[in-house]
Amino acid sequence: MPELAKLTWPQARQAIQTCDVALLPVGSVEQHGPHLPLGTDWFIAHHIAAQVARAPRWLLLPGVVVGVSHEHLQFWGTLTVSADELRALVLAAVRSAATHGMRRFVLVNGHGSNGAALDEAARLLRADGIAAYVFNWWQAIADTLSALSLQPVDHAGPVETSLILAIDPGLVHGDGLRDAGQGTEWGTFVEGVQVEFDAIRFTEAGNVGDPRLADAAKGHVLMAEAVAKLTQFCIWLADQRDDPLAAAHKP
Ligand SMILES: [Zn+2]
Repeated sequence: MPELAKLTWPQARQAIQTCDVALLPVGSVEQHGPHLPLGTDWFIAHHIAAQVARAPRWLLLPGVVVGVSHEHLQFWGTLTVSADELRALVLAAVRSAATHGMRRFVLVNGHGSNGAALDEAARLLRADGIAAYVFNWWQAIADTLSALSLQPVDHAGPVETSLILAIDPGLVHGDGLRDAGQGTEWGTFVEGVQVEFDAIRFTEAGNVGDPRLADAAKGHVLMAEAVAKLTQFCIWLADQRDDPLAAAHKP
């Protein structure tokens, strides 16, 4: 169960020299309705990465807890960094890991609005010859979500609430469930153009998707699928022995 922050430097030398892929979980600290904790996205991303990193081939890096959450700032407790700041922090963490010889990374993302910053960070890292890719769990398990009639657009709705029930049911506040909203759309749109961005403008309670439809059994299915997908991706990445950039330029 290699977790970099728990190792001494001699142990880290051993772990780094034997690991094939390093996992960097990235979360958010933002409101998740009246029933889920602010750290929901972090708990989910970290849990997926930690479960995968139980195998000694993969190394769990200390993650980035705070994400890009401007759209939730009107709710108490939300923290945010800018996309530039998140990208810079991820680049610095991965590049410093790369100085020790690590060459393959997965950014395990728990929050949709981190996407642009992480995609760009991964692109810049690949340009440096470091194989870095972004794992968005809700995209990786889209087929399972659809088989369970669950929408991938979910903020503290049935998907995230089921996952937190599976991780630690004590984190779900039953009293808050009564006050959760029932809206299903993220944002307000005019002719297909998004015109409202802040959650407070389209969800008074803070959630999108009805969390009363959540249960732990669904959460366990989704978590197991996310862990399986990330494990399979790590196996694929470990097998990419050639420089993925070698064929990138025309002669
Ligand atoms: Zn979330």
